Amino acid sequence: MNIGVLGGGQLARMLAQAGSPLGMELTFLDPSAHASASSLAHQLKGDYQDGRLLEEMLQTTQLITYEFENVPSESLALLHGKATIYPPPQALANGQDRLAENRLFQRLDIAVPDFRPVDDLDGLSQAIEQIGTPGILKCRREGYDGKGQAVIRHPAEAMAAWDGIQQVPAIYEQQVAFEREVSIIAVRSQTGETRTYPLTENIHRHGILRQSVACQADPMQQMAESFINRLLSALDYVGVLALELFQQNGQLLANEFAPRVHNSGHWTIEGAETSQFENHLRAIAGLPLGSTRLLCPCAMLNCIGKLPPLKEVMAIDGAHLHDYRKHERPGRKVGHIGLRAQNAADLQQALQRLNTVMETPTGT
Ligand code: AMP
Repeated sequence: MNIGVLGGGQLARMLAQAGSPLGMELTFLDPSAHASASSLAHQLKGDYQDGRLLEEMLQTTQLITYEFENVPSESLALLHGKATIYPPPQALANGQDRLAENRLFQRLDIAVPDFRPVDDLDGLSQAIEQIGTPGILKCRREGYDGKGQAVIRHPAEAMAAWDGIQQVPAIYEQQVAFEREVSIIAVRSQTGETRTYPLTENIHRHGILRQSVACQADPMQQMAESFINRLLSALDYVGVLALELFQQNGQLLANEFAPRVHNSGHWTIEGAETSQFENHLRAIAGLPLGSTRLLCPCAMLNCIGKLPPLKEVMAIDGAHLHDYRKHERPGRKVGHIGLRAQNAADLQQALQRLNTVMETPTGT
């Protein structure tokens, strides 16, 4: 079976790794000269809107998925009627725009931090008056990993923040003093069968995910599942969907959803009966879904900017390095480590050791 993928980063790479034992071949479209997936799948090198390349993809497959949410609408228009695209493009339309996304959450009775749309500096001043500070000004489109965002601690910072995000349509959002950040990942099949992974607790550094730990029997699991199930049905979804949440005073508030496999679900490669990547492929290919059961205490650490020394990672029992084969650059996700343990105490100990190894300069 052939599957087309828009985007060839590490998520496409891990989809290719999951598809290989199932006999699935991936062809991906990506403009990059050093796409992470290129050593594992066939690359069509060029723009996402390149009609000739999209036609070439259609010659090998009519089943297309994507690994990033900013798929240009032109690409979707070119594919319209010629291919099945999963997850459905209406999930993209809502996921690409923070305002549409927050309004969808509200329609589905999913709690969100207080927010206002902001189209100009006056609008920002009004939003700050209504919501107060601290708050976060976020670009409506194309922001991720904390990019295109400015924290406003005092109303006097409004103008600098507005200039900082380059005066594009935005939302101003209350900054939540959360107790923890969590995410929930679910998969839905073409027949509407749904499976949900255990809740994941996430730690971010400078807006970028640093660490995820799979939660066992978490008290917030039920609320998170109820939220994501509403989204899955409303979007008539097929594939893997991730929902990022803040926990505050025993409540969950939605931050954003991603209509794709997600960084906070990488632990499922080692820690779940079926990984998020395999389940995404099963769902879009019309196959039965696999169990999402947690196998053991499990976590994931992102390698940001550089890879840690290989030998030292491997000296830690239960640690599994994933090298994305990307050039090292500050702030860039170049790999991750999946970590399995016998019990929660061992997991914490291994996490501490790994965190020390990650800070060690490479080559030592
Ligand atoms: P985002 O790109 O929206 O996922 O934001 C990246 C990170 O910034 C989140 O994971 C949070 O750590 C933080 N953040 C974003 N929005 C808020 C908010 N309204 N309140 C508190 N922290 C936030």
